[in-house]
Amino acid sequence: MSSKFIKNKEDFVCQKCGADVVGNGYTNHCPECLWSKHVDVFPGDRAGDCGGMMEPVRVEVKNKEYTIIHKCQKCGTEKPNKAVKEDNFQMIIQISANNSK
Ligand SMILES: [Zn+2]
Ligand SMILES: [Zn+2]
Repeated sequence: MSSKFIKNKEDFVCQKCGADVVGNGYTNHCPECLWSKHVDVFPGDRAGDCGGMMEPVRVEVKNKEYTIIHKCQKCGTEKPNKAVKEDNFQMIIQISANNSK
């Protein structure tokens, strides 16, 4: 049995802030503004056809791991995405500070 997780290395230009994002196969969100795009049904499969921009609405912290919750602006789907070390930590702190508002 092989894993259904498909690593997809692709570079993209962030549609929110315009940053050039070098794909590493693990992240699907912009490391600068942390916005994502609704393209996956399961991580890496690119099976979704929504294509809406996903806003980082909150950050959950568990065992010192940060999970960014993305919410699609178009269809309202919420998806957790693990933060990676390349992500803009200031932005993560900012979003988690907004949690308590
Ligand atoms: Zn961006
Ligand atoms: Zn969507």
